[in-house]
This record gives sequence, C-alpha cells and structure tokens, in this order.
Amino acid sequence: MSSKKFATAINCMDGRVQIPIIEWLKNKYGVDYADVITEPGPNKILAEGKNQPVLASIKKRLEISVNKHNSGLIAVVGHYDCAGNPTEEKTQLKQIRSAVKTVKSWGFKVQAIGLWVDDNWKVCEVK
Ligand SMILES: [Zn+2]
Repeated sequence: MSSKKFATAINCMDGRVQIPIIEWLKNKYGVDYADVITEPGPNKILAEGKNQPVLASIKKRLEISVNKHNSGLIAVVGHYDCAGNPTEEKTQLKQIRSAVKTVKSWGFKVQAIGLWVDDNWKVCEVK
C-alpha cells in the first residue's frame, strides 16, 4: 500500500485537459498523484445517468482508486470545446453539479467536487 496521497479525476478523454487537471489537483489539494478515469464528456454521462454499463465501469474504477489507493477526493470534470459533450458552458456547469450528486449518491466516504476547464485551459472549481 502506498503512503502517497491520491485524488481521483473523472475526466474527459480529451488530451488537452489531462495535465491541467492533474496539476490543479496537485497544487490545490496537495496530492502526489491523480488517478484518472476517462470517458468522452463524463459530466454528461453522470448527469444523465442513462448509460448503465459505462456508469458501472466508472464506479468500478472509482472503487479501485478509493479502496486501493485511499484516494481522498473525487473530481468530476467538464471542459470547453468538448467533442464528447458539445454543449454550451452553462449547460455543462449544470451537468457537472448534477454529476457530482450522482457520484456522492454512490456512498464513497470521500469528498466529491466539480471542475471546469475553460477556453484558456484554466481550471476552476464549480460550486
Ligand atoms: Zn471532452
């Protein structure tokens, strides 16, 4: 078992958002590593709650990250210019809030937050 601190990002598969999210989690939450679960437009998938096989897959990967790496934080991500979720920012922010609720409903005993990556690839927390 590692003594390093982990967070878990449920991030888009988009290559442009990987490093910004990992760096943000390291800087803001003081973690050593971020486990990354990727899907195209995960905020949409988690907000809609329709695609059961994908939801089950995300949940299974979260269990590994939380139980085996003792991750203390789950971050759900949405971003500008998302090919998997090509909708406006306002809608995506709503989806992020809803997606965080979905993750919280799974009962992991860790904090869950939402993150938005803007058109400058800057990360901000979605309250
Ligand atoms: Zn995307």
